[in-house]
Amino acid sequence: MGRKFFVGGNWKCNGTNEEVKKIVSTLNEAEVPSEDVVEVVVSPPFVFLSLVKSLLRSDFHVSAQNCWVRKGGAFTGEVSAEMLVNLSIPWVIIGHSERRLLLKESNEFVGDKVAYALSQGLKVIACVGETLEQRESGATVDIVSAQTKAIADKVSNWDNIVLAYEPVWAIGTGKVATPAQAQEVHSELRKWLHENVGAQVAATTRIIYGGSVNGANCKELAAQPDVDGFLVGGASLKPEFIDIIKSAT
Ligand code: PGA
Repeated sequence: MGRKFFVGGNWKCNGTNEEVKKIVSTLNEAEVPSEDVVEVVVSPPFVFLSLVKSLLRSDFHVSAQNCWVRKGGAFTGEVSAEMLVNLSIPWVIIGHSERRLLLKESNEFVGDKVAYALSQGLKVIACVGETLEQRESGATVDIVSAQTKAIADKVSNWDNIVLAYEPVWAIGTGKVATPAQAQEVHSELRKWLHENVGAQVAATTRIIYGGSVNGANCKELAAQPDVDGFLVGGASLKPEFIDIIKSAT
């Protein structure tokens, strides 16, 4: 079974009401391959989710950037998975390195969040990735395997998970992983899934790359056999996001 190309736009903590409307109208006018060929998901900040959902073309989908680890309640400042489901937001990004590093989200916490979000019916873009220091010390595969294991320990069904490999040193730095570097880690992750979860999950789970992807470097990355799409930060706020969507073909 083929893995449908996946392109996610992570808008992070950016945008005003006006800017968001402008980005959506650019996306709405874009000519891109059909939904059968590429799955497109954009992830605005929480406060813009409803606006984006109401304006965005129906063949593109909306994701939150985070959600709470269990049922909502007395958790000031948090947004629950139930709320996202209530708004018909189908996707959520979990375990982004900015949250792991700045907000100290542990592997275990991320695993719990992924499991809870899935249990509520959300689809999850689960992020893993090593820091520069970890890469330079040769620990990349150990780090991303441990991050993936923490998810696998809590999850029994991978149908609704997209795994995003995002090396921390490549995020927002303009320093993209080479196609060979991305392919190497993606293939290690697929091997890990094969050995520890199962052949079927390894064959069907999309593993997408994130970290300084842009209109100029996406084609070569997309050509790698184990790169099944992208999670795009900075360039997802710009018209070149459309070129990245087109790299699916
Ligand atoms: P970037 O961010 O494309 O701006 O490097 C990617 C991400 O953090 O998802």
